[in-house]
Parts: sequence; structure tokens; C-alpha cells
Amino acid sequence: MANDDNAVKFTRRDFLEASSGALAIAGVGPVASAAAAAQEKAAKTDANYSDRAKSDPGPTNSVLDAQNPSGFNPPSTDAGGVQTFKYPFSFGHKRLHSGGWSREVTQRELAVSKTMAGVDMRLTAGGIRELHWHTAAEWAFMLYGNARITGLDNDGKSFVQDVHENDLWYFPTGIPHSIQGLGPDGAEFLLVFDDGNFSEYATVLLSDWMAHTPKDVLAKNFGVPESALANLPKEELFIFQSALPGPLEADLKVSAGARGLSPIDFGFRTSQMPVTKKTKGGEVRIVDSNNFKISKTISAAIVTVHPGGIRELHWHQNADEWQYYFAGKGRMTVFATGARARTMDFQTGDVGYVQQTLPHYIENTGDTDLKFLEMFKAPVYQDLSLSEWLTHTPPQLVMAHMNIDKATLDKIPRDEIVIMPE
Ligand code: MN
Ligand code: MN
Repeated sequence: MANDDNAVKFTRRDFLEASSGALAIAGVGPVASAAAAAQEKAAKTDANYSDRAKSDPGPTNSVLDAQNPSGFNPPSTDAGGVQTFKYPFSFGHKRLHSGGWSREVTQRELAVSKTMAGVDMRLTAGGIRELHWHTAAEWAFMLYGNARITGLDNDGKSFVQDVHENDLWYFPTGIPHSIQGLGPDGAEFLLVFDDGNFSEYATVLLSDWMAHTPKDVLAKNFGVPESALANLPKEELFIFQSALPGPLEADLKVSAGARGLSPIDFGFRTSQMPVTKKTKGGEVRIVDSNNFKISKTISAAIVTVHPGGIRELHWHQNADEWQYYFAGKGRMTVFATGARARTMDFQTGDVGYVQQTLPHYIENTGDTDLKFLEMFKAPVYQDLSLSEWLTHTPPQLVMAHMNIDKATLDKIPRDEIVIMPE
């Protein structure tokens, strides 16, 4: 502990932190992380933590440094080791085909993202993501253009729908489906899967299956001569260029057949739902199994934060959060317990991740709207905000923790605002 001369310079907060450090050294709490954090804190409060100390005269990637100011020069509240929670789609391998491309961010790319993975996919007009299914459920967000999706429900009834920018779809595990780009310029969309190890390149593909089944078996199975199957693809198609499909009505009629169409709506039109919460700081739409019935394993918040606004301090009780930033720029601090916290910056096209229950905020650091998706492997969306917690707890209890007066506590919003300012 400090001698008396030094102690007078300490704030009350410093004293409390020093005390908890002493407890940790005595074997109460995480000794190693507390000791490391104390060391880091000592360095930061030292007079040497100046512009001179922060300078970086050696080699560096100045372009990435400029995009990541919170890494280059972290806020003094950051401390300790927190697993990396950002991965840009720009770093992904782009798999190019004649009808489009795809790139993915899975647990292989972003180690912390155990519960969900994402794919960014482009299809040209007429380009087809071939008929397939997979072990994970698929939630999708249309980023650009127009596409036609098809599926088959558990009763063998057909589903066909045209989707446009901001529309969603969801296909449960094992439900076969396809996506085709429409005019005038195809589509780009984000796919989110409820498994961090999911890979878009390990799915059951119609072409791949046929290429690995003996021709005489296929002939017997379909009741057609083997010669009629001579031109089946010899390897998987995955994404391929085709002609544009005809009118939707015609596709609906022929795929319905005598059974009729599926009563299940695998699509969701976000633009037709009311905003869930709107403030001066921005707006949010919550889409989960309450309003998008079929989406039983994935829930989402679609968030816009205006310049100067902040997605308030909060946490999610029921699931990890997988994020996709699709406009603007911002920064997020994840407080990872044990005196550890890390701030990272995000740009359009980045994936972010927050482990279940860890507190975080997202601040718009640009001069345009910041837009991102919060995705959860959970049937319903859940969160709690710091403000609603503090204002629904006995005031004396809260004031005793925070050293704030009643007037300050009274100013803290009593409802969950989601995006400040109110
Ligand atoms: Mn799929
Ligand atoms: Mn969140």
C-alpha cells in the first residue's frame, strides 16, 4: 500500500481499486489478471504515460492504425487481455464463381465467435446459389438488390418468394432451399448461421450429391434411362450463372402442384414492421420468433445510431451477440470482468462479437449514421440496460456504490432508452 504522502493524492476510486488488488493478492479473486491490471494502471497514471510514451517511431501499418484508433491509442480505462472480437470481411477469402461470390467469417477466422458464423454473398442477375441444405439454421439479411428464394417445408409443400433490400429470410436445419439473383443487377446479402463452426462450403448440394451417387442407382431411383442423366454435372456447382427466372406467379403455380403452397412464411419484410424504439439518438427494430414466427433459433436487433449517439451500456442475458456493421463507423468497449476491458473500432463490413452477459456499448464515432445488426442464437431477443438497473434498485444502495448525489441519480433515464440521447 502507498505511504501517507502518496495516499492523499489518491482518489477514492483509486483506493477502492488498490484494496481489491490487495484482496486478489491475498488469494481472493483472479490474482494474475488483477496483478497485471494493477501494473498496467500504474504505468498509465505515471507521468511517463505521455505523448512521448505513446509514440510509435518504428514500422507500422499506418492505414490499419488509422482505422483502429482505439487499438493504436487505447482509452485509459482499457486493461488486461480480452480476446479479439473483430474480424473484417475484407480479410476473408473470396470464392469467385461465374454467377457471383462468397466469403465467410467463422470461428476459424474469429476464435471467440463460437455460437454463430456469417457469409457475405453476391449473386449476379440470374446467378444461382444452388439447391442445398445444411446442419445449421440460416438467417439472412438483404443488403442490396433483388433475389428469388425457394424452399420446401416439412410437409413437402413449396415456398417461393422475391426478396428486396432490408428483407430477411430464415430456413431451419435440413430445409432445402435456393437463392437466385434477379434484375436489374442481382443481389448481395448476409447469411448468419447458428453455429460458429458452420462453413458455407460444407453443405448438402444437389449437384455434389448426384455426382457421388452411381448413375444406375439414380436411373433406378428416378425411373428413367441412365442415358437421360448423361449430362449431370461431374462436380458441385455451388454458385453458377443461369438465365433470369420468369414471373413469380408462374413459379408459384408450377411448384405448388396439387399439394398447394406452404402456409409457412420463410421471409420477413423489415420495412413493413413498425420501429420498435425511436429516440433522438437513433432507432431499433427487434425481429425474433414473436414477430418472425419461423425464426425459432435466431433473433436480431437492427440498429441505427445517429452521429453523436450511443447504443447505451447494456448486456444480453440469454446469448452471445454476433454483429455485422453495414454502414458508418463506431467503437465498442467490451468489459470482460476481472478488471479487463478492451475497445475496438468498427467500419462498414466488419463483424463484431460479445460473449453472453458481458457489458458493452457502441458509440457512433463518424459523421454519418452507424448501422449494424445484433444477432443472437436465441428464440427471443433479451437485454438489460445499466440505466434501468440503477433506476429500479433502492436509491441509497446505488448512491453508496457510485458516490453520486440524488439529483444525479434522478437524471438517469428510468426506462431502457436503447440509443441515447433520449
Ligand atoms: Mn443455405
Ligand atoms: Mn448488445
